[in-house]
Parts: sequence; C-alpha cells; structure tokens
Amino acid sequence: MATLHDLKESLRNMVRMADFSTQPLSDAEYSASFDILLAAEWSTYQEFIVPRLSELIASRAKISVLEIGPGPKSVLGHLPAQQRRKIVKYDALEPNMLFNVRLEKWLRYLPSHPSESPLQCLQSPPGISRLPFVAQYVLDDSDNEKASDYEVEGKYDVVLFCHSMYGSSKFYFIERALGMLAPAGMLVVFHRSPLDTGGLVCQQTASFPAGVVRVPDDDETLDAFASFIAGYNIVPRDMDASIDLDWREMCRGLGRREGNHLVFSSPNIMMTFNQHAKTALPELVAQVPTADVSMVIKNREARLHGHPAAIMRPTEVQHVQQCVRWAMKNKVGLTVVGGSHSGNCLVPGVVAITMSAFDKVHVVMGKSPGETGAVGLVVAEAGVRTGHIVRKAEQAGVTVPLGARPSVGAGLWLQGGIGHLARSHGLASDSIVGAVMVGVDSAQALFVGRVPPQHLPAGAVRAENEADLLWAIKGAGTNFGIVISVAFEAYKARSYSTLNWVLPVSSNAINLDERRSLIRKFDELAGHLPRNCSADAYLYWNDGGLRLGVAMFESPASSKTGPRAKTAFETVWGTPSAHSGVMDGLDLFDAEMYVSRMHDGLEGGHGGGKTSSFKRCVLLKGIGAADVADILMAAIDNRPSPHCYLHLLQGGGAVHDIPPEATAFGCRDWDFACVITGVWLRDRGEDEEAKSARAAEQWVYDVVRQLLPLSCGVYGADLGPDPRDAALAAQAFGPNRPRLGRLKQSSDPYNMLAYACPLLTTKEEPSKTPELIVLVTGESGAGKDYCASTWAIALNAARRDLCRTVNACVVSISDVIKREYAAATGADVNRLLRYGEDRAYKEQHRPALTSYFQHQVRQAPQLPEEHFLNVVRGAAGRVDVLLITGMRDAAPVAAFSHLVPDSRLIEVRVTASGKTRRVRRGMHDNHDGDGGHVGEVKEENRDKAKGKDGKLVDDSTDYPPDFSFDNDTTGDDKKVKEFAETHLLNFFHSDLQRLASMVRPFSDFPRPGIEFRHVLDIAQQPGGLKLCMSLLRRHLSTGWPKMPTPLSGDWPKVIACCETGGFVFGSALALFIELQRPLALIRKGAAGKLPPPTVSVDKSPSHISSATCSGGAGERIEMGRDVIPRGASVLVVDDVLATGQTLCAVLQLLGKAGVDAENVSVMVVAEFPVHRGRELLRQNGFGKASVQSLLVFGGL
Ligand SMILES: Cc1cc2nc3c(=O)[nH]c(=O)nc-3n(C[C@H](O)[C@H](O)[C@H](O)COP(=O)(O)OP(=O)(O)OC[C@H]3O[C@@H](n4cnc5c(N)ncnc54)[C@H](O)[C@@H]3O)c2cc1C
Repeated sequence: MATLHDLKESLRNMVRMADFSTQPLSDAEYSASFDILLAAEWSTYQEFIVPRLSELIASRAKISVLEIGPGPKSVLGHLPAQQRRKIVKYDALEPNMLFNVRLEKWLRYLPSHPSESPLQCLQSPPGISRLPFVAQYVLDDSDNEKASDYEVEGKYDVVLFCHSMYGSSKFYFIERALGMLAPAGMLVVFHRSPLDTGGLVCQQTASFPAGVVRVPDDDETLDAFASFIAGYNIVPRDMDASIDLDWREMCRGLGRREGNHLVFSSPNIMMTFNQHAKTALPELVAQVPTADVSMVIKNREARLHGHPAAIMRPTEVQHVQQCVRWAMKNKVGLTVVGGSHSGNCLVPGVVAITMSAFDKVHVVMGKSPGETGAVGLVVAEAGVRTGHIVRKAEQAGVTVPLGARPSVGAGLWLQGGIGHLARSHGLASDSIVGAVMVGVDSAQALFVGRVPPQHLPAGAVRAENEADLLWAIKGAGTNFGIVISVAFEAYKARSYSTLNWVLPVSSNAINLDERRSLIRKFDELAGHLPRNCSADAYLYWNDGGLRLGVAMFESPASSKTGPRAKTAFETVWGTPSAHSGVMDGLDLFDAEMYVSRMHDGLEGGHGGGKTSSFKRCVLLKGIGAADVADILMAAIDNRPSPHCYLHLLQGGGAVHDIPPEATAFGCRDWDFACVITGVWLRDRGEDEEAKSARAAEQWVYDVVRQLLPLSCGVYGADLGPDPRDAALAAQAFGPNRPRLGRLKQSSDPYNMLAYACPLLTTKEEPSKTPELIVLVTGESGAGKDYCASTWAIALNAARRDLCRTVNACVVSISDVIKREYAAATGADVNRLLRYGEDRAYKEQHRPALTSYFQHQVRQAPQLPEEHFLNVVRGAAGRVDVLLITGMRDAAPVAAFSHLVPDSRLIEVRVTASGKTRRVRRGMHDNHDGDGGHVGEVKEENRDKAKGKDGKLVDDSTDYPPDFSFDNDTTGDDKKVKEFAETHLLNFFHSDLQRLASMVRPFSDFPRPGIEFRHVLDIAQQPGGLKLCMSLLRRHLSTGWPKMPTPLSGDWPKVIACCETGGFVFGSALALFIELQRPLALIRKGAAGKLPPPTVSVDKSPSHISSATCSGGAGERIEMGRDVIPRGASVLVVDDVLATGQTLCAVLQLLGKAGVDAENVSVMVVAEFPVHRGRELLRQNGFGKASVQSLLVFGGL
C-alpha cells in the first residue's frame, strides 16, 4: 500500500514531466478537498488523535487553547464532553476565509445559550483570527533567517497543531509556539510523517503507523483529492483535461482497493513539548558525554525513527543518575539502548542513553554447586552483547542460558531470553539473581538480590522494594529503572552438537493433511526429547517450495565418548542434511540454520547484512493441531517476500517448571515460541525498501492476529507503545499484568520509560473496555471453547471487509477459580487449565470444582461480579472483542451489563445434542437420547447456570440468549466461522457507527450531571430514519433468537409502540418492512385519551422524566383492548431502554391484553445499560422477552 507521501511525489512528478503549470487551490477548492480528506482519515482521528488528546488533558482542570489551522471545525469538538468542558478559552488562527467563517458558525458562541456550543464552558468569546501562523524567524529569499514581526498576545495552556504544520521551518514554528505557552503549558503536534525537531526535546511521542486514508473511488472525489494532495491545481497548456485522468489513474494504481474505496497508508505521529524543550538539552550535554553520531543502530525501525533529541553515552553510574535527574526535572521521557535490536531504543525527539560504555563481564566462581546446579555467577554490564557474555563465561568453563544470536543486548535478558539452553536451565531472566540499577523515581543507584560486593557501584543502596523489583526484572526489566548490570547464575559449560534436516512441504494447499502431518510429527518428536536436547523448526520458502527446516541441539548428558545413539528424528527423517560435530557454546551461534542454511542466494544467510527484519513472537502449545498448523503454513504461502519465515523455538522443560507468578515472565505453559519474521532486502532504493518493509510488517501483524487466539501468551520483547502492539502486550505477562501495572506506577511515577513494553497501569484500566463482550455459554461438551477460539480467529481475520481492524481474544473466566481450587486441593492446575486436553482429568474434578465455587460464592456473593470485572479489565484498552468462556451465571447479560456500560454485552449459547456432548466429553455410554441416564443427568446439571448464591439453576429456557449457535456437527469450521462473520461482525459495521454519531450528547440536560443522548434526533437528520430502519431490518433478519425473519413471512403479527419515540421508530419500521403489520399504539398520560374498550396499567417515571423539573410523577399507559389478538406474537419498538420502567409497563399491558412475554420481542434503538433495565424486566417476571438494541451508550 503506497503512502500519501508516495502519492504526492508521484502526482508532482507527473506534473513535472508533462509541461504543465500549476496554480494554488482557491479557498473554496481547499475547503471542499479538506472535507474529503477529513472523512477519508476519520479512523485516525477516532483511534489515535482524539484518544491521545483526551489523555493529554485528562489530568488538567481548566485550560486555555490556541489552535493553529483548525479548519472548519476544531478536533477538540470530538473530545468526550467532560474534556471539552475543561476548555475555558479558545483562540484559533485560521487563514482560510471559508474555514474561518465555518469555524465561527460551528462554535456558535452565544453567551445566552452557552450549551449550544461544542465548547460550552468558554468564559469569553473565542478569538478566531485570519492571520497565518508564522515562525519567529522566517527564511528570506536566500534561505537566511530573518526575524518576523508577527505577534500573538497571551499565553496558553495548550497550543495545538493538528495536521497543520507545513513548510520547511518546523523547528522555528515549534520554537515560536513554545513562546506562547503558559508556565505549565504544553505544545501538541499531530503530524502525518516523521518530524525532525532539530534537537528540541520532546516530552512525549506517540506514533500511529497503522493510519490510513480511505477515499471513495469516484472521478469527482479523486480529482479533488489528488489536487489537495499535490497541493495545487494544474493548468494544462492545451486546456484538455487529460491530467485529471492521469492523476485519477495514478491514485487507482497506487491505492489499495477496499470495496469502493482506495486506501493509502498515512502513519501519524504525536509530539508534545513543554517550556524546557529548547533549553533543557544544553544543560544535560554539559554534564554527560554524548555518543558518536555514527553509532551503529541494528534495528531499522529505530534507525528510521532517527532524530532522537540526543544520544547520551554515560561512562559511569553517576552519569546515568544525572540523566534521570535531568529527565525528572524537565518532565520528559528517556529511552535506553542496549544491543539496539528493538524498534523502541530510539524515539524521535526523546533523549536516548546508550549503555555501550558499560561493557564488562566478570565471572565469580562459587565454591560448590547450589540447588539449581549453578557453579558461580556471571556479572554482565548492560552494554554487552550475548556473544560477549558467552565467550567470557566459556573461558572460565561456565555458561549462561542466553538467546540464539550473539549480537543481541540487555533487552534480551531483561525481558526473557529464549535459547537452546532454556529447556535445561530456563530463560535468561530466570538465571538473574541480582541487579544494579538507577531508579527512575529517585535517580538513586539501587541494587537488588545477590550482587558480589566488588561489583556494587559506590553509593548504591539496597532497594526498599527489593523483592518486587527483582521479581519484575525477571521478564519485564525494561520498565522499572535503568539497569547497569545483572548477576546471572552460571552453569558448567557444555559441549553441543546439532543435526539439521530440510524437509520439503507440499506447497499445494489441497494436500492439507500431508502438510499438517509433517508439523504434527515434528511436534510429537520434539515433545519426547529429554531436557538436554531441544528442537527448533523453521518454516520458510526456498528454491520454489515450502520447507520445514528442523534443527536438533543436543548437549550430551555425560562427557562419555563413543558412537552416538540414533535419535528418533533420524529414525523418522533419515540421515540429517548437516551434522555439526561437537562444539562449544560460542560456535553454537554459528551453527544456527538461520545463519547459513536457509535461502539460497543470500550469502551468509540473513546474518550477511543484506536483509532487514521485523519480528513478533507468540507462544504456542500443540503446534500439531490442525488449526495452528494451517495458520503457520498459510502464513508462508502468503508471505510478502521470499525471505519471510517462521522460527519455532522449543520451550517446555525448565521454562515450564517455574510457576507463572514466580517471575514477571508469566507465560510458562508453551511448547514453542513462534517468531514471525518479516524479512526484506536492503539496498533496493529507499522507496522500494520502505514499501517492502511496510508489507513485511503488515504480514507479521496479520499472522500474529490469527495466532493470538490460539496462543498461550506473547513474548514481550520488542513490544512498544505502537498501537499495533496493544493486543500482544495484553497477553505478554500472563497473570502478572495487574501486579506489574501497579509496580510501574510506583516505580516509574513520571512514566519516564514510556517506550518499553506497555504495562497496564491502573490509570488506564477504566479507559476502554472492549467494544463487544461475548459470553459464550452452553452445556459441557457443546464446544464453547472451540467455537470461541474459532470466532476469535474469524474476527481477527476480518480486517479487509470491515475497513478497520478488530482485535479479538478469548478468556476463560473460570481459570482463576481453577487455580484457587488447585492450590486448595493439590489438584494439578496445568491439567485443569489446558484447553481441549485432559478431558478425563477435568471431568473427574468437575463436581468438586463446582462445589468449591459455590462455597466461595456463598462466602462472598460479589465474587462473580469481581471475576467478570477482572477479565474485562485484563482486556481493557487492548482488545475490541472479548469472548468469555467458562461463565455459567444466570442471565448474565441482565446481571452484568451495567458493570460495562461502555461495551455491548451479548450472550451466545452454544448447543449440541446430548449424544454429541457425551461423545465430546469422552463418556461412551449406550444412550443416544438426550437424557435418562442417571449419571449423566448429574453431569448435565453441573453445567446449568448458577444463581446469585452459587446454587445451580436450570434456567436455560428461562430467558433467551442473544444468539444460539447449533454446534452439533463436529469439525465444521466453515459454519462456525460464518456465524462470526454474519452475526458478530455486524456490530462493527460502519453504518452502525454512523447511526451512533447521529445521537448527539447534550451535557447537563435536563439537569446537571446527566449527559442527554438525543436518540430521537436521528429522525431529524437527513437520512437518519432510513439508516436506522435499514439497520433494524438487517438485525431483525439475521437470526436474532425468537425473531422470525421478515422474508419467511413468519413475522410478529403486530408492532407495538409507546409514544413518543416508539411512535416515530415503530411507524417507520412498519412502513419499511412492507409486511402490512398493524401498529398497536400505546398512549401515555392520564387514562381516557382513547375510546373504549381499552386496557391500561400504571407506569413509574423513567430516568429522564424523573429528572425534569416536574419530577415526572408516575403515569398510566393505555391502548385499545382489541388491537392485538390474544396470544399473537408482538414486536415492541422503542427509542430507548434505560431503567426499563416504560418497557416493563408495556409488557404488563401486553400481558393484560393476553400476550405472554415469551411471545414478545423488543427492539430499541439505544440502550443505556448503566440503569439496569434488563434486570428490572427479569425481576418483574419478563425475562423471557427477547430484548435487542441497535446502539449501546455508556454514561447517565
Ligand atoms: C536478530 C535477532 C535475534 C534474536 N534472537 C533472540 C533469541 O535468540 N532469543 C530471544 O529471547 N530473543 C531474541 N531476539 C529478541 C531480542 O531479545 C529483543 O529484540 C531484545 O529487545 C533486544 O535487546 P537489545 O538490547 O538488543 O535491543 P534494544 O533495542 O537496545 O533494547 C530493547 C529494549 O530494552 C530496553 N533496554 C535495553 N537496555 C536496557 C537497560 N540497561 N535498562 C533498561 N532498559 C533497557 C530498551 O530501552 C528497549 O526497550 C532477537 C532479536 C533479533 C533482532
């Protein structure tokens, strides 16, 4: 996919080559094209700019803002109401006359009606000026600086440039804007491409590489869009319009087609600066040495980020302390450079600290082996590389379990470190027993754990929270301080030998079984290896075919010589294609298949320097399972360049021995770390390389998204604040994320190390619960886990059709209780947790586990709510769709939706016949009916829903779930996926978002504290009612339970609606569906509005009417007694479901007219779950009515 920048260059080249002259866009043209771009780039505003801006002002009370070049509306208008209310002064510089007028109109500042303005709390009229913003210094014709005579009065808390910084003098713009900041003010810049700040120090930087522009592919739009991007209009000499045509074709050639749209990549960056941006750096440079500008940075992304404010090269611990003190004083972040293999070691505008001067390794031999078999310690300073540590250690006859490449730095052992010795000695971080660091909360030199005294820097003190810090360094060590050195336990050095096979894999996706069986065989053979061996696999493409490269590493258990026993690998796959002979740990680095035996034609393999790569790593179990194997193979089939590959490094053994909570590296139960490696050739020209890099990165994330639902965690190394990493970071530390989040807040209170692998902080927790939470329920053996993971895969793969990405993941809510149960009873937690495995063991423990849970709930009735909130918080801010299995609470949507008012909560009940379920549970009896077997009835009961007291309630027929999925046919993947595509993805349809955006919020109406959502306003907007009806119809006809489809003709016989909102939407729907259904019109107010005979009931005041000045006394609702035939099916349509009082009264009224709740389906346009309307219906005996809502809104 080309970038907007590529497009601009190509359009301009075309003009240069054809001899055309150009003319600037008129204000009107600029204004029209601007609107096109804004709409095309809306997803970037929604996903990046608005949330970032909200975060920035979240901690401020009242602010004054100067916005430069806002266009016709300010981006501030899209902030949540509570943030907008903080803006008490707003000025703008907008030189485009039309924009200027539109902006004034949009702000509609009327002192008499401030609530009409999008910025309601302005204390003075907004100052909108037509002056252009110019730098303090401008360049004259000869590129010399001259002072500008431009002046702006006043100082602001926020000066904002949102896509409005143009021209070559950005440094000067920033410098000028800094002069307008109030003392604690902040300059915020959103920009579409990397910004060289010329040594100005940035306070915060955030990037959004996934930004795209989606422009409709029609001639008129493309013409305007192309002119806007090129920056001018064309004046062809012969006045024919051929250039427009060519420009259109250029857009079509470069854009990626998505339906009727062309998509261009448009990465965005945010930078913020404070008053110290210009003055701070000289102060630091005077105290601490800087690095040589030609310093080699291994990671391409980091190299491209380029432009850090400076790279400091401390040579002593005091220098590091000075850097930290400086950052604290100036309230800015820092990055740290170890081996520079990650993309996060350099960030634009941020000061980096390279640890390269800390380059010593010391070996301290112990007297006798300890419990772990360690024979000494190796103290490694933070600037050394793995190869250097292994060399020094081998010279002393010891070794440390490090990774598989010699050039990697401290980032590896601080975040895990997976290598060939992991099966015998664990991860590199598992061997850390002590560390020296500089705390980023205090700039103090600290030490934790066992550090030999001779290697402690002068003045270092034992950290107060030593146990926590040592725990955190072992897996999440890049987040809590700047590490100076670590002490590893060292083990006796070994010799190794390696065997390699290169096995051809059928490249024909039709031979699926053949492909799967190869991976299954490898998985099986590797699974039986003793701990002194490990097996890696590479899936790659070479010489016209798919290959499975297998590397087996053996470290002989004894030093006995003699003929080598044949391995099971050789028995199955014959003579290896390479056998290394015996070698030491250092030579082992060179024995990597990756280095020399993959990809003919790349001299020296990927290590030869001709390629760059981008990696992400997920942790997998059971790679032989068909779904995992298929994704792995398909990944290589769809590789964007021939050199992309997957590396599967074996785990298990000692990695698995350590409990998840014992160190920060909380993901322990995996067999293979799957490194998805996008590779591209260098030296192909800048543009070509950038294009290949983008394609490779996209491929890596695509594969990750597919594997994530099947993974047992993610390796945190290399993850950073890039939003594309969010879903991975959410899975990176297993159960340890909450503890790490808390520790991050206390140990790094200024978020100085903001660019390391993101940890969930409690501050972020309430920020964004998943948009959709799906409770996957059903009886044991129905296939809930299988369906949930298949749906997650389907949702993750659906990006193209949706014009947005959806991150889905599956969580089992019962895992926590299983862990507690195992701890209390001594049961094997791993066997209880493993998905799809050990069925018999789980069945055996099921009764006791259920009783245990019931007992816990009796002790603490709020436990189900707590468990639910914990799993939701675990996914907050990271995941769009959370599928929760293991939940068996009664009517969970009614019970829990108020806890997650900003999410849509639905229940999907998975069903299968009794026979199928018994077979799946491994209960082979002679019964093929659905019941009757005493033992089975007991088993079945165990999966019935639980009531509030934890008692079993057979209420599966007591209320309708939102959907039912019949999963009786085992292995019908296609049908399962189709369900997600047809039903779950509906909730992400852009039309639904469009409808939601028509419901404007009004703050403090009808009384302070209430944010009124004007749902009826949909009908007052052009096309609003039609859109709403088409969505209602679409939802009604795609299988809502108990909702017969309009096409089947078996539709509810009557549409009932209550005034006022119900009348509007109900009547429109009756017309829209063209089924000639009569309306039952329910009147509100005093009885007697309708001629007799009527039925009527009392109704309590609703949420909004009780908030009006009159206080909303209760009223009666009434309808004609004979408008609905007794026992008819009824569809109730209403605008809003909040407290449920109206709906309750309507259902009562229908009951009086002879219609039972189970024959009623309710469809509301908007639901406000916080008011617990569904719970009220259940409490009043109307739980059997099916209730659906098109939109869900949080808030009051
Ligand atoms: C070619 C290659 C091979 C790899 N092989 C393996 C492997 O075999 N096994 C494995 O487990 N991983 C492997 N990785 C992944 C590797 O562990 C990560 O990329 C790791 O982050 C690299 O660390 P670094 O120090 O080289 O990189 P850097 O980019 O310098 O650092 C990575 C992170 O650590 C932080 N950091 C570095 N030093 C410090 C410090 N002193 N204090 C605090 N924070 C610090 C940085 O700020 C950054 O966030 C490999 C990566 C590559 C590119």
